[in-house]
Amino acid sequence: MTTIPTATGPIDTDTLGFTLMHEHVFVLSEGVVANFPRLWERDEQVAAAIAALTEAKAHGVDTIVDLTVLGLGRDVATVREIAQASGMRIIVATGLYTYDVLPHYFESRGPDHMADLFVQDIEQGIQETDIRAGILKCATDEQGVTTGVEKVLRAVARAHRRTGVPISTHTHAKSEQGLRQQDIFEQEGVDLGRVVIGHSGDSEDIVYLEKLMARGSYIGMDRFGIDMLLPTEKRVATIVKLCERGHAARMVLSHDASCHIDWFDPALIKQGLPKWNFLHISDDVIPALRAAGVSEEQVRTMTIDNPRRIFEAQGAY
Ligand SMILES: [Zn+2]
Repeated sequence: MTTIPTATGPIDTDTLGFTLMHEHVFVLSEGVVANFPRLWERDEQVAAAIAALTEAKAHGVDTIVDLTVLGLGRDVATVREIAQASGMRIIVATGLYTYDVLPHYFESRGPDHMADLFVQDIEQGIQETDIRAGILKCATDEQGVTTGVEKVLRAVARAHRRTGVPISTHTHAKSEQGLRQQDIFEQEGVDLGRVVIGHSGDSEDIVYLEKLMARGSYIGMDRFGIDMLLPTEKRVATIVKLCERGHAARMVLSHDASCHIDWFDPALIKQGLPKWNFLHISDDVIPALRAAGVSEEQVRTMTIDNPRRIFEAQGAY
């Protein structure tokens, strides 16, 4: 048993339950709402978020990990308000989300300064609250490990080694960016078993996925509902194959969904990605996995035991 922070206070890892490891409450373009506040209908969006998370709880979701960090419009006080009202347990993150360049502030400063800020979020609290981050987040997309991205990866690795909180990433799976992230983490002395390589579920390439797991990392099968990248049937088939090959202990499931994302017209999302919500795994994916022969024990491993193990592995090193 280990105590970890959530938006509404510390909990024992024993009580995490069914956990979605890569989700978001709100994803908002950094700086846009601050400059054009009329674009953000806060009260309506908060009410809708409370309703969506209350419903997810009723469908068996006990905990979500909100990987919203600098670059995605993080606002942890609002997340706490939504967690309190919905009863959903929410673990929040620190880190920096970019595919390429950094905010100008960080361009002239080194990775250790960035790591100091992440450590403050983990040890003291985020945005002048007492809400502490329980996980570190970074991203590598198609552009690869650019100068900016490399600085973030090293800062995240150093903050991880100073605090022991796990790392969760965004990757472009098709160009095998997970392996590049593992290279940098390895150089920084990170135990790759403390890392979740995210968006691995966008790939059907068993060779690539087994390479990631052979180095010890968990893989995030975490974009259920984004059918334009890979439809649910193919995502399910890949997990079935990997379970058959003995990898249930290295996979976690999620949607990378949000209560609201301002990157696209909400009507287009509803129409184009109707299953991109917090219910799809409980309602459709798990029944499909069972029907394809994945055992009850393997489902439990991926949805309950692996998240608990990821958060239980604590301690600086
Ligand atoms: Zn995400």
